[in-house]
Amino acid sequence: MSHATWGPKPALLLKSRLLSLFATTAEDQQEQPQDSAQRSAFDPLAMFCENDLMIELTSTCNLRCVYCPKSQPGDKLLPGRDQDMPELIRQRALAHCRWLADQGIELKLILSGTGETTSLKGWMDRVQPFLELPGVISIVSNFARRFSEAELATLSRFTTIMISLDTVDRGVLKDLRRKMELEIFTLNVVRLRSVSLAAGTRSPYLHLNCTATSRVAQKFYDLACYAATLDLSLGVSSLYELSPIPGLPVACVTDLPEAEFLDFCRQLEKAHGLFKHKNLAFDVQPDLLDRLVKRLSRIGDEQTNWDSGSQRRWTRLCTQPWQRCTVGADGLVFPCCVTMRQEGIGSLKDQSLTEILSGEKAREFRRGLLSGELSKSCVGCSMARPGEVTELRSIIEGLWQESGLDQQHVGVLG
Ligand code: SF4
Ligand code: SF4
Repeated sequence: MSHATWGPKPALLLKSRLLSLFATTAEDQQEQPQDSAQRSAFDPLAMFCENDLMIELTSTCNLRCVYCPKSQPGDKLLPGRDQDMPELIRQRALAHCRWLADQGIELKLILSGTGETTSLKGWMDRVQPFLELPGVISIVSNFARRFSEAELATLSRFTTIMISLDTVDRGVLKDLRRKMELEIFTLNVVRLRSVSLAAGTRSPYLHLNCTATSRVAQKFYDLACYAATLDLSLGVSSLYELSPIPGLPVACVTDLPEAEFLDFCRQLEKAHGLFKHKNLAFDVQPDLLDRLVKRLSRIGDEQTNWDSGSQRRWTRLCTQPWQRCTVGADGLVFPCCVTMRQEGIGSLKDQSLTEILSGEKAREFRRGLLSGELSKSCVGCSMARPGEVTELRSIIEGLWQESGLDQQHVGVLG
């Protein structure tokens, strides 16, 4: 693809097209508020859902992707970072889930964290009781190992499986994810679908995630075609940026030379058309989209007021600490799926999940987002786009109204 004729105007046009294709606005996320006269007053610092949990059954992984903190020599030595969840913690998390299920509350579980659940010895037995609960039960997997029939049968019971693959270029794949082979990945997807077909059950919803780096940008559309061929929805995310890795052999796509960057944006646009045609979901992580758009604005020489000296107070438009949490492999609870160890809000070893989620540390974390005094994790996080604190508050209030829950009652769950 030639870029000889590219100039400021095409970059801005491309920017507005990407925005219209991928951006979701605060209004999209909000339903019409319901009458809350019978409910307790809105408490912006309180959790209002306890049914959306990430449970890290193990933080070990069979891969060592170059951009993952797991590739760092010291990572293994960090507390909680290379271990299986103790049985006591798993039982407590399970008890909380069962209690919610008994109340008729539908669960949204992800039985993964920063680790590969299927590398856990006896993983099928560990996930089994969660699979019996009502709700959306998901898992994240790298699909790098050839699964047995029994493993495929277990995987076929999940509602959603998020699988990660960054490129279909075998050489680059080896460079980035080392032991990963495209053939094994493909075989696992096809066999999983055939197991469901043979059993007469619905195949799990399979969502492929691509970590978009400088190494995979050039052949991004090839990956999109591969995903569409296998009927996989596709998400594009950014590098894990919380702890920049010294000597990292890849960069974020937003740091590519201009011609390559524009080429990547064009491929995104083209892939969007393909996925629309195939009726498959395709999304770009909000913060990544924001950065793509900002770079396109700069190339187009457009003035933006983000980061300017205005009086607005900026934050991340993130609702996770109000709606979900992660139980780490050692029982430490985090207010979202990204935060670092030092931002843990309590341990299941000492408290119930409800106590932790309504505790002062959790409230303090939410207060930080609502005031724009962001934690280190939030500052470097790619999961949510930036926005004003007033916008975040109104999103949170809208979600609370939508949930129909009384926060004071949520506080006694579990
Ligand atoms: S598969 Fe995931 S957890 Fe494992 S090394 Fe790669 S990025 Fe890290
Ligand atoms: S680290 Fe990211 S996902 Fe976690 S609360 Fe902050 S913005 Fe949200």
